[in-house]
Amino acid sequence: MNERASLLLIYTGGTIGMKQDPEDLALKPFDFSQIWDEVPEIRKFAVRLDVHTFSPLIDSSDVEPALWQELARLIRDRYDDYDGFIILHGTDTMSYSASALSFMLDGLTKPVIFTGSQLPIGVPRTDGKENLISAVEIAAAKDADGHALVPEVCICFGSLLMRGNRTTKMNAELFNAFQSPNFPPLAEAGITIRYDGKAIRKPLDWYQNLSINTRLDTRVSVLKIHPGITPDIVRHIVCDSGIRAVILETYGSGNAPSKAWFLDIIEEAVRSGKVLVNVTQCPAGTVDMGLYANGKALERAGVVGGADATTESTLAKLFFLLGKSDDPAWIRRMMGRNLKGEITLP
Ligand code: ASP
Repeated sequence: MNERASLLLIYTGGTIGMKQDPEDLALKPFDFSQIWDEVPEIRKFAVRLDVHTFSPLIDSSDVEPALWQELARLIRDRYDDYDGFIILHGTDTMSYSASALSFMLDGLTKPVIFTGSQLPIGVPRTDGKENLISAVEIAAAKDADGHALVPEVCICFGSLLMRGNRTTKMNAELFNAFQSPNFPPLAEAGITIRYDGKAIRKPLDWYQNLSINTRLDTRVSVLKIHPGITPDIVRHIVCDSGIRAVILETYGSGNAPSKAWFLDIIEEAVRSGKVLVNVTQCPAGTVDMGLYANGKALERAGVVGGADATTESTLAKLFFLLGKSDDPAWIRRMMGRNLKGEITLP
């Protein structure tokens, strides 16, 4: 670890920042500027750690894109002062926030690491301390040239460091809450932290400036296909005039009903300029619309294949692309490109 690494710890809320009040035993947010008292182990690292606390602190199920914009601006404004950024965030929407930041930050050469916990940091069996300590060690890690080992937006949770836009919260109870089903972990924490140098994205230019994209258009909806789905439901979600893009969560490798009414509605939506993207409901694997007749029909109707991207990162990517352009053809093309390591191209 670099002796002089300086990190900014950004506390947005979530379970990790809770502590039991000795009087009424209720879990309440604690003041993270006292982090040294709560997690004295951090003193063992030769890092300078400053704390920025959001106000109000929120349960991450209240996260809105405004929080992502605030985070992006904060990181840009303090970028030159720190070697890395750690974002303490509730677990419920952490994958959405990490995905969004990956698209909003351009030219990143420093780590931006989200972490949180399943149990509050102030209870005896907490996973919060271990997650935070690993995040600090990783955010401060540099190679022999002084470059960050992981210049990406990541989630550090349990024993894994994962690319943020590849993650999904898979477990509401276990300490290994997050997985990255379609991309290998960037690092694994055991006795030592083992980095996978081939999996980590490196910038082409280590001296480029960071720029941020804060224009997001949230007019996106998600339709989970299921047996018994009716024309009314599909039309309501897919053809709504206030919506510019729809994520279709389909079966298996990208299949949906082949009934004429279903395909007619899909075609009508595409013709009206909406961007429809096909992602799979399966926790792992990829969409390949060429595999089955039912998938091919969606492709013919103009639906874009989302490959092996998660719903979380597809949503964030659409917010970002819709914020950049009014041209559906351009957005469809860009959905098929790998922008920040979020999809595997054939
Ligand atoms: N509801 C909490 C949140 O997402 C759960 C957590 O932090 O684990 O903020």
